[in-house]
Amino acid sequence: MRLQEMLRVLTAAAVGLAVIGCQESPMESTGGGVPLASTREVNLLCPMTGSVVAPSVPTRSFEGRTVGFACVMCPGRWDQLSSDAKRARLAAALADQKSMVINTRCPITGNPVNVQAAMRAYMGNIVGFCDPTCGETWDRLPDDQKQARLGAAMKK
Ligand SMILES: [Zn+2]
Repeated sequence: MRLQEMLRVLTAAAVGLAVIGCQESPMESTGGGVPLASTREVNLLCPMTGSVVAPSVPTRSFEGRTVGFACVMCPGRWDQLSSDAKRARLAAALADQKSMVINTRCPITGNPVNVQAAMRAYMGNIVGFCDPTCGETWDRLPDDQKQARLGAAMKK
């Protein structure tokens, strides 16, 4: 099984309760060298759908933070919410994302993942790291290296 297929299966298993209502493919390539939206956004799960945020979807600014979304319909639906509802949905998305990390070993060092340290959205999944610097290292890796490192980390 190829890594992408494996990740897709794992995502399907891990998402479980999340609503996947968008047509956008989570496997959409971000292109080599293009920074992932997750380096800018505060949330890795969409506050509207619970799916992993997609880098191609427009973001929104809310109370000094950048909010990411999973599909193109979501920012418009977000705009309709009251500030209280936005705050609640964003808090719920932030609370849930820690439980959706797919790896137990850091893809950079091989050490155990610490979800407090760093997480990134990657191809419809959430990847955890052992240290904030590993997340920054990850951001600079080309896509093929990310896949290779994540695949190796998940075999440990
Ligand atoms: Zn690490």
